[in-house]
Amino acid sequence: MEDIIIIGGGVCGCSLLYELSQYDLKTLLIEKKSDIGAGTTKANSAIAHAGYDPEPNTKMAKYNVDGNKMIEILCANLDIAYKKIGSLVIGFDDTDRKSIEKLLDKGKKNGVPDIRIVEKDELFKMEPNISKDAVCALYAPSAGIISPWELASAQAECAVEGGAKIELETEVLSIKKEKDFWTVQTNQGDFKAKYIVNAAGVNSDSISQMVEPQFFNITPKSGEYFLLDTTENGIVNKVIFPCPSALGKGILVSPTVHGNIIVGPDSKTVEKDDTECTIKGLQTVRQGALRTVPSINLRASIRNFAGIRADAGLEDFIVGESKTAEGFFNIAAIKSPGLTSAPAIAKDIAQMLLAKIDAKPNPNFVSKRKIKRFKYMSGAERAQTIKENPHYGTIVCRCETVTEGEIIDALHRPVPPRSLDAVKRRVTAGMGRCQGGFCAPRVLEIMSRELKIKQTDIPLDEKGAYIVTGRTKKESGG
Ligand SMILES: Cc1cc2nc3c(=O)[nH]c(=O)nc-3n(C[C@H](O)[C@H](O)[C@H](O)COP(=O)(O)OP(=O)(O)OC[C@H]3O[C@@H](n4cnc5c(N)ncnc54)[C@H](O)[C@@H]3O)c2cc1C
Repeated sequence: MEDIIIIGGGVCGCSLLYELSQYDLKTLLIEKKSDIGAGTTKANSAIAHAGYDPEPNTKMAKYNVDGNKMIEILCANLDIAYKKIGSLVIGFDDTDRKSIEKLLDKGKKNGVPDIRIVEKDELFKMEPNISKDAVCALYAPSAGIISPWELASAQAECAVEGGAKIELETEVLSIKKEKDFWTVQTNQGDFKAKYIVNAAGVNSDSISQMVEPQFFNITPKSGEYFLLDTTENGIVNKVIFPCPSALGKGILVSPTVHGNIIVGPDSKTVEKDDTECTIKGLQTVRQGALRTVPSINLRASIRNFAGIRADAGLEDFIVGESKTAEGFFNIAAIKSPGLTSAPAIAKDIAQMLLAKIDAKPNPNFVSKRKIKRFKYMSGAERAQTIKENPHYGTIVCRCETVTEGEIIDALHRPVPPRSLDAVKRRVTAGMGRCQGGFCAPRVLEIMSRELKIKQTDIPLDEKGAYIVTGRTKKESGG
């Protein structure tokens, strides 16, 4: 019997697992995919938003501003890629100026630090490549950029090292209340717990309806992106937004922590698992980007992708204990700024749970993590690292300068990657210009050797999506 079961291994579920790992509790996270952070958490704009968008006095506003501060500390402690570069909302006319003034007012009410309006001269000094039609901008220095999937995996790794459990490829099918505990039925059997937390992203409505009357409904909204090559790095220095509209924050142009430029998203209603990119969607993104940054070179795109917002048509997140099902908690309808808010939501839910459970501190709590990243080492550090472990002397991913040593280390970390995409998210191998064209066969070889499994059993992402099916030629010398 577990104390707490968390359903969903996105950034919200993993943040809660980490937060709870500070206490001596039996906690289990159940995720239906083959890796954590592989839902909406892996496909978004990757911005730690400052917090001027949410309506004042909402949970969303509080979690956004608190989460923004927490992320900076978490990223330093857990060695997660993060840069506080600030954001600009660009205004083109008097109507935009009015909405920027409203955003400034909301930002001040929400407690966003140092937020202010900048006029043309200062704006063009900050961003020489934005449209010369811009007249002013809202500047929020506390906005940052982050590696979103790492925020999930780093917290999950520390939590598991500290004693928490994760079951992957385990889909929750139904939930039943028995006297004073819950039985969670999955495709891998039953699990029991005193408390349940629903952090199932776009499926949070279906999970909620397993135990309580329907009170919200997710309308999934997809957002498509271009990811530009590192050659375009420098076109903008901060996160560049247009003024927000009814569709959301608008199409942004921003550096990423990996040195690329991200451009997007659009917004349209789709099915829950529809991450397809379309000509229409990408054209919308292109037009939006050209309006704020006219010289942007979208031909330098190395990847298009789409993420799905868990939109319940509400101005706020659904966070807290169910009104009808005692012991069942929702972290539901977590659309943007959910990535930024996740650590603050987790802290709040953990406090609600701790008010019900008498838990002592966990003596094995792992609060920090340090990862070896060859790309960012000095010459002397590289030489020393190779001396200690010669696998660090073999570059596997040439685009991102990822070594065999890093891949081997990742395969043996507390939440090991088991697919090619999961390795990419842990160490960035395959994330560069060639998108794995050169390194994928080498990564498969290393995975096969280290995990003692056949290459034909290693999927791209989920079971069934295999990359190699067998040999086309006999091995030479045999
Ligand atoms: C286009 C776009 C741009 C965004 N940009 C930003 C941004 O820049 N900044 C920001 O702060 N936020 C942003 N967001 C929002 C942010 O990405 C999400 O709020 C956040 O990732 C949600 O995390 P989650 O853990 O709730 O959901 P998810 O990451 O989707 O995790 C939910 C998990 O639950 C699992 N699951 C579902 N059903 C079951 C089941 N039955 N059994 C077991 N497991 C199940 C899923 O497989 C999934 O892994 C953006 C979102 C989108 C779509």
